[in-house]
Amino acid sequence: MKLIEGAPIAELVYRECLVSFEELKAAGFLPGLAVVLVGDDPASKAYVASKDRKCRELGMHSVKIEKPENSTQEELLAVIDELNADEAIHGILVQMPLPRHLDEEEIIRRIDPGKDVDGLHPVNLGKLAMDDSSGFAPCTPSGCQRMLIESGIDTVGKHVVIVGRSLLVGKSLALLMMGKGKGANATVTVAHSRTKDLPSLTRQADILVAAIGIPRFIGPEHVKDGAVVIDVGINRIDDANSRGGTRLVGDVDFDRVAGKCEAITPVPGGVGRMTIAMLMANTIRACRQKAGL
Ligand code: NAD
Repeated sequence: MKLIEGAPIAELVYRECLVSFEELKAAGFLPGLAVVLVGDDPASKAYVASKDRKCRELGMHSVKIEKPENSTQEELLAVIDELNADEAIHGILVQMPLPRHLDEEEIIRRIDPGKDVDGLHPVNLGKLAMDDSSGFAPCTPSGCQRMLIESGIDTVGKHVVIVGRSLLVGKSLALLMMGKGKGANATVTVAHSRTKDLPSLTRQADILVAAIGIPRFIGPEHVKDGAVVIDVGINRIDDANSRGGTRLVGDVDFDRVAGKCEAITPVPGGVGRMTIAMLMANTIRACRQKAGL
């Protein structure tokens, strides 16, 4: 069994970013990312802080906009309008989920598609569906694909079964994997909460992706011998033996499944490491597009 760790692959992406960054600097451009956070959700705050930290580590311009929980839709749209017009900002990410009283879709649609480095604007999702590489693909699915590529896992003609149909992960990954680009050309099945007899479907997977949000949901009964398993899930569970009384686990029951796999990603230390790396790569690409490089 091969363990597909995220850190070395993310490092590869960061090295590419630095090369690109130097070229941009020489051309008089400094890539800039703005992250908008609404409210005080601790997990969202932690994600935003690590995005900000990574930007600074890479020498990028980083703007963190924190708005109170009770911000109005109009206030948020005004923030987006300002960032759209700001020449120093090449990428805009609105940290999800937003408080329930806000209309996420309208806010995403307001982002300039050329700055939508999270890849959730309809223009970018349309480009993803059309195999048009000038768009931005969502970061977590791109990270999964990059992990497969860098681990030398052939995807051509392989049966990829994705459990989960969210736009952020499952559905976008399905579009990527059935596309004609590198690390794609797969035959894709998407399963979800209404799928019947899930284990018989997932057992057909050469590559099984779990993006469900239920701790250790995928067990050995879901996995074919010799399959590749990509665990997107990040779930915090109680654990009296861990410092702080909790720990992170994936959507896959790693201890019971790993022995059956040709390769598997761990949680933590797997896909999670890739998401921020792909966000940085998208931001640098957005800046390159602006610079005409
Ligand atoms: P979501 O809640 O939007 O979607 C979950 C999907 O799982 C749904 O499409 C649903 O149909 C499906 N599902 C639920 N119960 C099921 C069942 N019993 N059988 C089959 N399918 C079922 O979640 P999401 O945003 O797609 O995230 C999924 C997981 O990935 C979560 O654990 C989340 O924390 C994690 N995540 C990780 C990263 C990362 O950077 N690694 C990024 C985004 C999300």
